[in-house]
Amino acid sequence: MKISKKDALSWFQFFAELPEEEDLMPGQQEIALSVFSQIERAVQARHEALLATIPGLKTLAGRTYYVGDDALFPQGCKSCLLGTGLSAVRKTNRCNAACRFCYDYGVLDKQPPVGEGMWEIGGTKFYEEDLPLLLSIQKKPTGISYVYLEPFMEIEKYYGAVRAFHDAGIHQHLYTNGLNATRENLKALADAGLNELRFNLGASHCADKVIENIRIAAEYFPAVGIETPMTPEWWTEFHQKKDAILSSGIRFINCAELHLNENNIANYAGENLYMCRQGYISPIFSRLISLRMMQEAAEEHWPILVHDCSNRTKFARDLNLKAKEGGWFGASSYGCEFSRLPYEFFLPVLQDDDFRFLEEEPMPAGFGLGDIVL
Ligand code: SF4
Repeated sequence: MKISKKDALSWFQFFAELPEEEDLMPGQQEIALSVFSQIERAVQARHEALLATIPGLKTLAGRTYYVGDDALFPQGCKSCLLGTGLSAVRKTNRCNAACRFCYDYGVLDKQPPVGEGMWEIGGTKFYEEDLPLLLSIQKKPTGISYVYLEPFMEIEKYYGAVRAFHDAGIHQHLYTNGLNATRENLKALADAGLNELRFNLGASHCADKVIENIRIAAEYFPAVGIETPMTPEWWTEFHQKKDAILSSGIRFINCAELHLNENNIANYAGENLYMCRQGYISPIFSRLISLRMMQEAAEEHWPILVHDCSNRTKFARDLNLKAKEGGWFGASSYGCEFSRLPYEFFLPVLQDDDFRFLEEEPMPAGFGLGDIVL
């Protein structure tokens, strides 16, 4: 079913008004999925057209795209995409920012604590002194990443665990917005053995103070990079400070495709959205900006690697993770983050005259707007 944009809009207006407790019937679901597919196919065509214009485009075993020197490809991403997969470590449940793109927007002060003196690894709670026990029993992962809110709220608590994983030969990367970083704590973290530090520079709107902290970090860590969601604000702010950022000592920029959940979607109301493989919902602008970043990097020969951390990359990552966990053929943890699909947020893209479906067909018999579709 290749639904027309006009029919798609009428059906989504109807679905958006259904009471919360009313689920779509199978025939209605078929229509909804046809709409999502029509939007996604049009978005993919734009991606493919843009990818074709990027000089020197490379892939990592077909799992993700990048431009730049292979030696700069972040080890943490290699571990995630080719190694034993994403091994997330959680500790800090607070942050000193409130980014509109944050997955915890509006609930940043309500995140469950991991517990005094404890770490959450693979969903299990550990004291630091339990780490040798864990490492002696389970096969160690190729890499781990510290992923919960802002670690520099209490970075001094990290050094011991980082040292333990470093001694075990595990690659470690950590994300920060960089606001609380100082020369002292950056040096201490590097001395503990952290391999890779990733700055979410969009979180501070490319603040000079954070760019300076990146510069300091690059003195101490084997690899420093930027990982931040691609938004129009990022595009503008990055270009205002492009030279300072590109000469800060970073090895890579991971262009994260912004995806939305129930916490942050309202911040992007009115934007054109699409759903990727019935999983992540993203503003269409996000990956287009990633691809423009890569194009500019390739054309201007930036001294860094630029990586397309797209929804497709997350799809590949989650397939890799399940495969390494011994999952069945096709198993993946990739999926939709909404318990109920937010049809109303897709009205803008369906109302946008500049957004066109690639191909449209009349609705099959029984699926017309006047029909009762169950
Ligand atoms: S810095 Fe990170 S954790 Fe903090 S609000 Fe921004 S995105 Fe969320």
